[in-house]
Amino acid sequence: MDKKNNEGYIHVIGAREKNLKNIDVKIPKKKITVFTGVSGSGKSSLVFDTIAAESQRQLNETYSSFIRHRLPHYGQPKIDTIENLSVAIIIDQKRIGGNARSTVGTITDIYSLLRLLFSRIGKPFVGYSDVFSFNNPSGMCPKCEGLGRIDMIDIERLLDKNKSLNEGAILFPTFEPGGWRLKRYIHSGFFNNDKKIKDFTDDELELLLYKSDIKVTTSDPEWPKTSLYEGLIPRIERSFLKKEEGEPTKYKKEISRIVGKEICPICSGTRLNQSVLQCKINNKNIADCVEMQIIDLVDFIRTIKDPKAATMVMAIVDRLENLVSIGLGYLSLNRETSTLSGGESQRIKMVRQLGSSLSDLTYIFDEPSIGLHPHDVNKINDLLKLLRDKGNTVLIVEHDPDVIKIADYIIDMGPRAGINGGEIMYQGDLNGLAKSDTLTGKYLCKQAQLKENIRNSVEWLSIKDANLHNLKNINVTIPKGVMTVVTGVAGSGKSTLINHVLPKFYPETIFIDQKPIQASKRSNIATFTGIFDVIRGLFSKANNVKPALFSFNSQGACPNCKGLGVTYTDLAFMDTVVNVCEVCQGNRFTDEALSYKLRGKNISEVLNMTVDEALDFFYEKEISVTLKRLADVGITYITLGQPLNTLSGGELQRVKLADELESNGNIYVLDEPTTGLHMSDISQLLKILDRLVEQDSTVIVIEHNLDVITQADWIIDLGPFAGQNGGRIMFEGAPKDLINCNSSITGQYLKKYIK
Ligand code: ADP
Ligand code: ADP
Ligand code: ZN
Ligand code: ZN
Repeated sequence: MDKKNNEGYIHVIGAREKNLKNIDVKIPKKKITVFTGVSGSGKSSLVFDTIAAESQRQLNETYSSFIRHRLPHYGQPKIDTIENLSVAIIIDQKRIGGNARSTVGTITDIYSLLRLLFSRIGKPFVGYSDVFSFNNPSGMCPKCEGLGRIDMIDIERLLDKNKSLNEGAILFPTFEPGGWRLKRYIHSGFFNNDKKIKDFTDDELELLLYKSDIKVTTSDPEWPKTSLYEGLIPRIERSFLKKEEGEPTKYKKEISRIVGKEICPICSGTRLNQSVLQCKINNKNIADCVEMQIIDLVDFIRTIKDPKAATMVMAIVDRLENLVSIGLGYLSLNRETSTLSGGESQRIKMVRQLGSSLSDLTYIFDEPSIGLHPHDVNKINDLLKLLRDKGNTVLIVEHDPDVIKIADYIIDMGPRAGINGGEIMYQGDLNGLAKSDTLTGKYLCKQAQLKENIRNSVEWLSIKDANLHNLKNINVTIPKGVMTVVTGVAGSGKSTLINHVLPKFYPETIFIDQKPIQASKRSNIATFTGIFDVIRGLFSKANNVKPALFSFNSQGACPNCKGLGVTYTDLAFMDTVVNVCEVCQGNRFTDEALSYKLRGKNISEVLNMTVDEALDFFYEKEISVTLKRLADVGITYITLGQPLNTLSGGELQRVKLADELESNGNIYVLDEPTTGLHMSDISQLLKILDRLVEQDSTVIVIEHNLDVITQADWIIDLGPFAGQNGGRIMFEGAPKDLINCNSSITGQYLKKYIK
């Protein structure tokens, strides 16, 4: 092929990360390419671990070693070469996080534009734009220092009112009986030290807690004759809550037990000082603006007609509209970024790119449809097309058929997961994929149907007067022993209701998510499920040696790599180099440990067996029952020794579900369990959930995925829209009735989907 022809492609040659089978692939530039395939087929290994990693690494190489050392490290991906790679910008679902000073307004830079606007035309004029910043000493509320909240001591937790001072009513170190700080109160002569606090008069309680600067005279020789009395609350604040004096670190745990965050009483949570709050435009100050939902703020900003501010108004409206256009209009600018969901975080990151006029970048997205109702997916699609039309290359890992359909090019991976995947099954356009013999192609053509045998319930969980966040004082009942799907557009209140309110009523709720198991490089499915102990016992019995010899965390560990099988070398000014351990060749164990066998296999060979292979090898019930459960959830292809931190989110979710397969009568909540799952993985997941329900458990799923919605026994639809315009129950009932519910957006989409 001539050179010019090749320049239109990113050319990946010899990719071997994780399960990739030495693959070559050409990805068209300035187009949208969607990567499909079952969970674990190798999409992330190709897109993130190979293409994105190599781009970052090449970029870092262009810096001096001094700077490079301060950048995150990217090892060399396992690959021959990638040609024509441009700078990659990764827009993933990692939460933005950030501290309490980071808000939607600050992270999108819209807050700095608002500050400029107020400093230009706000009345009265209070100063330059810095003054409007709650992160700047001249603008912040002096009481809470710009945080909007302060630490307040919770009296109920500080005092045990059924006790007297002598019996230890004050539940804090140094104030307990015998504690040196308690003496001041006991010897003050103000209190009956044997009277229970609950019997104190209001005046006595006030005196104990708050009164200060009262002269105390005492005859106790241990104390000065006169001194100043100080109430309990100011006393504790002085010594424990004010950073300058005090012993903040020593009693951290005790302090967090008695202290809660309260809205700052001085600024009412606005974070700003009083003079800044007096500065207004059309009767609103800057705090009023960031408190509004973005969708309402746009309207307000549009009413500002002052010619001195025309360009600024345009710039602000423009950015706010970008947020509305990707379905985030229900957020307010004062929302702390640490409280945003993964999907919301990803969309904020996306908006930050929209202002950029750079082209010829490679944008990489990880399931941008996450958290989005079918209703909102189109908005994301428009944005993805916009990025392409600016001359960028857009790579997307995605399962949602509605996103797949905007692809110019599709790369389908498979055929299955793990060692049974890692190959390219199809590349080309959507029509070709639908006709191809791949799993993805087959599922794309499948006709959806509502579940036939709906289960009925006799018992119900009941939530009353829910009003957290945007919920409008709602009462909800959830049927027990069936599968309920909770639906509604993003921001309508689903997670608020199910993840935050439900457990207040039913603390026994079990959440099953895709988050990493407290896992290190040292745990794997054998250690996690407990079968490794049994396996070591078998080796020990068969060879008449101690079981510890077969642990890669202790005696049996290869001394060179300490049982990891690889060694990490940190070289100054260079990337960390990971090598297979020279001593054990990756086997993790000492030669002695490896010399012992069980039915012809050594311990390392056993750890290299897949679940399927291990099922053939072990007939011991304690082991096979557990393996069978893993196989039941589709974890057949993973080896017993694969570190848990290398499992994908979907694989982890299934490992967690396997653990629950034999329990019954529980309440399970799953928040978007189809994340990262291919349509064929979803049918498998539904079978597992069915099995939990068959065992009398209650399964509650928050989902947008229509395949899951069709299989519900019961649906709770929240809406009608997001944020303050949501938080109501639109529908409760069976899927077949949802279709006829005209007021439900979900109903309309479901209707379209099944015919
Ligand atoms: P996808 O993005 O398609 O869901 P991934 O690329 O995340 O898939 O994962 C590919 C597969 O590779 C998974 O099944 C994972 O468990 C497996 N895997 C992870 N690390 C390794 C490794 N070091 N060797 C072989 N397979 C691995
Ligand atoms: P959904 O799960 O349906 O997408 P959420 O329950 O996350 O919706 O959000 C419902 C509303 O509550 C939205 O307006 C959202 O901005 C708001 N909200 C969610 N979490 C918080 C929070 N931690 N602090 C303040 N508001 C929140
Ligand atoms: Zn304040
Ligand atoms: Zn070793």
